[in-house]
Amino acid sequence: MTIPKLVLFSDLDGSLLDPKTYSFKSALPSLSILKFKRIPLVLSSSKTRAEIEWYRKRLDNHHPFVSENGGGIFIPENYFSFSFSYDQKRERYLVIELGQCYPCIVNILKKIKNETGFEIKGFSEMTEKELVSICGLSEEVARLAKKREYDEPFLLEGGEEEIKVIKKKIEEKGLYYSWGGRFHHLMGKNDKGKAIKILKTLYKKEFSHITSIGIGDSLNDLPMLLEVDYPIFLRKEKSSLPGALSFKKNLKVIQGTGPEAWNLAILDVIRDHHL
Ligand SMILES: [Mg+2]
Repeated sequence: MTIPKLVLFSDLDGSLLDPKTYSFKSALPSLSILKFKRIPLVLSSSKTRAEIEWYRKRLDNHHPFVSENGGGIFIPENYFSFSFSYDQKRERYLVIELGQCYPCIVNILKKIKNETGFEIKGFSEMTEKELVSICGLSEEVARLAKKREYDEPFLLEGGEEEIKVIKKKIEEKGLYYSWGGRFHHLMGKNDKGKAIKILKTLYKKEFSHITSIGIGDSLNDLPMLLEVDYPIFLRKEKSSLPGALSFKKNLKVIQGTGPEAWNLAILDVIRDHHL
């Protein structure tokens, strides 16, 4: 029997990247093992394509990636040895689009803002300078973060009650809501799980058998974690385990977030799978 090919799907912010500094330095030991063992690391983030490309360059990563909470799946041309259907070819990627057009999403958020009268501020209304101060991003990355294609992150003044109203409004308009750890997100009917499911099918076709691992720290990672064989949840201090995960087989919960926790979790996985 052939040994299944391991494929790792990973979130960025608060997982591979430090939630404050965005550094992945502490994960370098496991990153180099992944590379040495030729285990594909597929980045799956709420970040934009432009931002993810920035990190892929620094990680020397050439694998497919998922942008904006599953809005777009970007597959480098000739990555898979067979042809498959995709929505468009952009530069050197074949793109499968699950998300809705960004200007439509922004318009709907504006409508929701008017209908509720809530203090809502979307990414599209924020300047690069504001993003630098809210997210601690460098100006260069803030510029890339504004190149959105499928998902609008937003700030909302208020608590649980306001979130409940917003969620209902979003559902009424046939869209998805998600919480990414720093921003609320409004998007089409896409999520990381739907994107990972498609990529899993492609990897299976390429390698016959695969074992999928997923790692993330936030609610927007749940659909991805539910889609993989071995989910790893990086749990923030004092936070509780999301209910959806409690019955998931093979679940591993690691205390702590960011690249240090990511590094330990991946070293564990490699050891557990005798790789
Ligand atoms: Mg995260």
